[in-house]
Parts: sequence; C-alpha cells; structure tokens
Amino acid sequence: MSQNSGQPPRPAAGPGHNSGQRLPRTIFAPEHEQFRDSVRRFVAAEVLPHYADWEEAGVAPREVWLKAGAAGILGTSIPEDYGGSGGDFYFDSVVVEELSRRFIAGPAWELHSYIVAPYILRHGTEAQKRRWLPKMASGEVIASIGMTEPGGGSDLKAVRTTAVRDGGDYVINGSKTFITNGIAGDMVLLVAKTDPKLGAKGISLFLVDTSLPGYRKGRNLKKVGNKASDTAELFFDDVRVPADCLLGGENDGWRCLMTELVQERLLVAVRAMATVEAALDETVEYTRLRKAFGQSVFDFQNTRFKLADAAAEIQVGRIFVDRCIQLHVEGQLDARTAAMAKLWTTEMQQRVLDECLQLHGGYGYMWEFPIARAWADARVHRIYAGSNEIMREIIARGL
Ligand SMILES: Cc1cc2nc3c(=O)[nH]c(=O)nc-3n(C[C@H](O)[C@H](O)[C@H](O)COP(=O)(O)OP(=O)(O)OC[C@H]3O[C@@H](n4cnc5c(N)ncnc54)[C@H](O)[C@@H]3O)c2cc1C
Repeated sequence: MSQNSGQPPRPAAGPGHNSGQRLPRTIFAPEHEQFRDSVRRFVAAEVLPHYADWEEAGVAPREVWLKAGAAGILGTSIPEDYGGSGGDFYFDSVVVEELSRRFIAGPAWELHSYIVAPYILRHGTEAQKRRWLPKMASGEVIASIGMTEPGGGSDLKAVRTTAVRDGGDYVINGSKTFITNGIAGDMVLLVAKTDPKLGAKGISLFLVDTSLPGYRKGRNLKKVGNKASDTAELFFDDVRVPADCLLGGENDGWRCLMTELVQERLLVAVRAMATVEAALDETVEYTRLRKAFGQSVFDFQNTRFKLADAAAEIQVGRIFVDRCIQLHVEGQLDARTAAMAKLWTTEMQQRVLDECLQLHGGYGYMWEFPIARAWADARVHRIYAGSNEIMREIIARGL
C-alpha cells in the first residue's frame, strides 16, 4: 500500500531527455535532429494513444505500418530508388531511440527496416530489391526473419530446415519459432540448409512470400514483454519457391548472416541505451514527487546513490555506443565490438531498470506504469540477436 494519500505521481508528458545532465552528443547532424522531432511527433500522435490496445491484441494493425511508411520511418536508409529516404544509419538510430525513449517495443519496425531490408540491399539482386524494398518502405509488405528453430537458436549452424533444388525451384521443409512479425508478416527472410553435409557452409537465405501454398503460421506466442509485437511459429511443408528467391549465392548464407548480425546487435545496444536514459529520467522525476516518511523518495541517500550509479553507467555506455554508431556508419564496426556493445548495454540495462522499478515501489510492478513495461520488454535483449553467452564467446575468441 502507498504511504501517501492520493494518486501516485505520474510524469505527465512521459520521460524527458534530461540532456543537460549528460555530456552533449556529437554524432548527429541538424537533419537527424529535425527528423527526430518528426518521429517524436509521430510516436505521440500515432503510437502512444493506441499502444495499450496493441499490447492487448498481441499485434499492431497494418494501418499503423502504412502510416509509419508514409512518415518515412520504415525507409530511412533504403535508397530513394527503392522507395526509401536514402538516409544513413544515424536516421535508423534516431527512430529506434525515439521509440525506446517512450518504451515502445512494438510494432517491430527496426527488425523490418533495419535488419531485413539491409540483407536485401547488400545481398539481393536488382529484381529482388525492386520487388520487396519499395513495399517494405511503404509498409505494404511486412517482413520477418526466420533463423531460430524449435530445436535451437544459438547454434545456427545446426538449422534443420532444408531447401532442396528441384528444377527451377527450391522445395522448403521445416519449422521456425519465436519469429517476430511472424503473424503479420508477408515475407520471411528464411535461413535453410541447401547442403546439410557442409554445416555452416551449407546454409542459404531465401525471401519467401508467406502466401505460398505449404506455408503455415502457428500461434501468436504469449510473451513476458514486447507484447505489441507478434511472435510466431512458422511451418514449411513442401513450400515451392522459384530459384530467384535465393538471396545471395547458394550456400552463401553464413557469410551474409555474419555480416548483417553486426547491425542487428548494434540496434539492440542503441535501444538499450535510449531505454535506460529514459528510465533514469523518469525515475528521477517519480522519486522527486513521491513522498515517504515526510520527505521525497529521491532524498533518501539510498535512492540518490542508486540513481548516481545508474547515471554514471549510462554516461559511460552512451559514449561507447555513440562511438559504435559512428564506426558502423563508416563501415568500421567489427563483430567483436558489436558483441561487446550488445552484451554490456543489455546487462547494464537489466541492472538499471531493476533498480528503477524498485524505486517506484508497488507501482513499478503495475503494467500501466512505463517502468514496468520497460523492465519486462528489456529482458529479451539478453536473449535475442544472439544470446549474451554467445556474445561472450565471440569476444573471448578474439582475446
Ligand atoms: C521475443 C523474441 C523474439 C525473437 N525474434 C526472433 C526472430 O525474429 N527471428 C529469429 O530467428 N529468432 C528470434 N528469436 C529467437 C532468439 O534469437 C533465440 O531465442 C536465441 O537466439 C536463443 O536461442 P534459443 O532460444 O534456442 O536458446 P538455446 O540456443 O537453446 O540456448 C539456451 C541457453 O543456452 C545458452 N547457450 C547456447 N549455446 C551456448 C554456448 N555455446 N555457450 C554458452 N551458453 C550457450 C544460451 O545462451 C541460453 O542461455 C526471438 C526470441 C524471442 C524471445
């Protein structure tokens, strides 16, 4: 029970940026900041008012994808020739940061736009780019990526889904699980074995239209967090795809995956950093307003020390992640450094969010309080995009 009379304090406008208390960031140009303002307005008008409904439904409607497409959110770094805005990864980061600052974990726009689209851009044929990218930028096509299987996700080399060449087609059999956008998706970038004898060297990627016969969507899985984004099982029973659905060369999938996982892991770090910054700001505000034993919760030394520790970790992490973003834009971010960014920020995020939730008392455990959602949504960051144990393996290999 609350020690106070009346309602708990609720920061009315959501978490602010509190940037005055942090070192100024130097990586963004004025056009990125202008775009940030438009994303912020979009999130306030088109996402926040409906977010609780999407969480309840376990999926967001197509309509908001189309609106996000029209607002330029889905095609930030897709070239203009293919229907996007032709921006760089700084623009992608701005979108992820603005969603994270409002603790918005779905729809999974970053997976669609900043994970799947780059595979097509870097490894696709001209025909594949023309077929998929304009509709992905507009939101008419929703994309997913199918790597993980019921038998295991960490050991990608062991995937059991197969694609067997048959004349001008491949015939796909197998199943995937935990696939984000699996329910809403119109296309899945699928990881399958084209030569099971070769292990990692026998993996290929396919762009599979989800309306093909033999393709089946399973349940929308009930999750601990990320509730506004759908996550599904997928089944492939003799799904026949034309050979021109192969992305990259046959048996070239592993190389493509290793290249693209760098950006995927950096995106998780970008999200984690923006989330903890917002959580700290929100918790400072909450604890200043909340009273116990005749003083504000913020004024207990325990609160101030916990928040000081968080502020210090966040500042250190911000400098590192901004440097990683910069390196990535310059094409210089290596797999090990990306693994460090993903590992460290997501472990730090869990510590900080847990303390922030604790400082909210019982209200911190209520779903309607942003800190509760942030805490639950963040848990998966240590698991997906390669678990943090796999990140440690990657880092250790280079020591
Ligand atoms: C909400 C959500 C969304 C997801 N979205 C997608 C998606 O869109 N597409 C997709 O393909 N996948 C997706 N995933 C799957 C995710 O990438 C996997 O869950 C993850 O890679 C771990 O695989 P696993 O669950 O099979 O765990 P396992 O591989 O079974 O691992 C179990 C445990 O063993 C540990 N472990 C495994 N190998 C080692 C090792 N060598 N050394 C030490 N420890 C090890 C792991 O770290 C983990 O702690 C999603 C998962 C979730 C929960």
